[in-house]
Amino acid sequence: MDEKVLELLKTYDGPELRFMEVCGTHTGEISRCGIRRILSPKIRLISGPGCPVCVTVTAYIDRCIELAMTAGTTLVTFGDMMRVPGSKMSLRQAQSQGASVTFVYSPMDMIALAKAKPEETFVFAAVGFETTTPVYSVLIREALDQGLKNVKLLTSLKVMPPVIDWVCSLACNEKADFRVDGFLAPGHVSVITGSKIFEPLAEKYQVPFVVSGFEGEELLASIYGLVRLAGRGVVMNMYPKVVSAEGNITAQQKVDEFFEPGDASWRGMGSIPDSGMYLKKEYESFDAGSKGLDEDHVANKACRCADVLIGRIESEECPLFGTACTVDHPQGACMVSTEGSCYTRWTSR
Ligand code: SF4
Repeated sequence: MDEKVLELLKTYDGPELRFMEVCGTHTGEISRCGIRRILSPKIRLISGPGCPVCVTVTAYIDRCIELAMTAGTTLVTFGDMMRVPGSKMSLRQAQSQGASVTFVYSPMDMIALAKAKPEETFVFAAVGFETTTPVYSVLIREALDQGLKNVKLLTSLKVMPPVIDWVCSLACNEKADFRVDGFLAPGHVSVITGSKIFEPLAEKYQVPFVVSGFEGEELLASIYGLVRLAGRGVVMNMYPKVVSAEGNITAQQKVDEFFEPGDASWRGMGSIPDSGMYLKKEYESFDAGSKGLDEDHVANKACRCADVLIGRIESEECPLFGTACTVDHPQGACMVSTEGSCYTRWTSR
């Protein structure tokens, strides 16, 4: 990396700038590479709502548990969903009480499970953003082609632009009680959507978006781009080796075949119009009851996950951080996922 750029990032002494990294993987890499320690104190990085597990409402976890407790049904998931608190318990606690839960490395592994036990129903906990939705399209296509009727999805699939719009409406104006001056746009999501998708938001709120890679040097270069562009409503693609302006058209078409947008609830934020993706009516036989899962029960009222997820506070400002809430005893979803802001802050101390 250019020494002059590094020096500028270390010694910047202009107005304080607060940049939000939207992607959970960026959050993890920024902590792992110690980037906050390199930057001038006047350049603040705040985490956003880009960790899919962290933004999942308790009603969804409760529905997962309900399905896993149903005779003849197995819930299929990735490991990081197991410890997320529902309104009464987590999936791990439910499993110890007899709930049927199994892990896979890929959603496609469900096909072999479903073929081996046709008398049983397998429900995949399909949580994610634009990056993962195409995989679920491929899964449904495969189930259709193989005539499998015992494969279902419980979806909590979300899209980024509406929630960034929601954050901008709070944080990108003069009267905001917390401010965001620019965004490190999510790299993985941008591979699918293309960088152009952020142009209307950049223009509407006159803040820059820089699409960033994940290496330390790529992140620093992108932060430098944000410093240079502060106050301008532009999109810059600093990850051109994998992100194009239009995105992955084939993946977008696969999603459009099976899914359509709808309102979705986000932990601590409530319902945001058209921020979710749901199976289309003609494929609803593959759905395991994904709509209307809005309840967002916070067991520990002191938990500040909602404020952490929109960048209003940093994890360390939550009164439970490192006291009642640790990686071993998480009180909120942000401490559970390896992409959660509180998890990465706690593990990189
Ligand atoms: S420290 Fe724990 S309780 Fe506080 S915001 Fe983070 S996850 Fe929620």
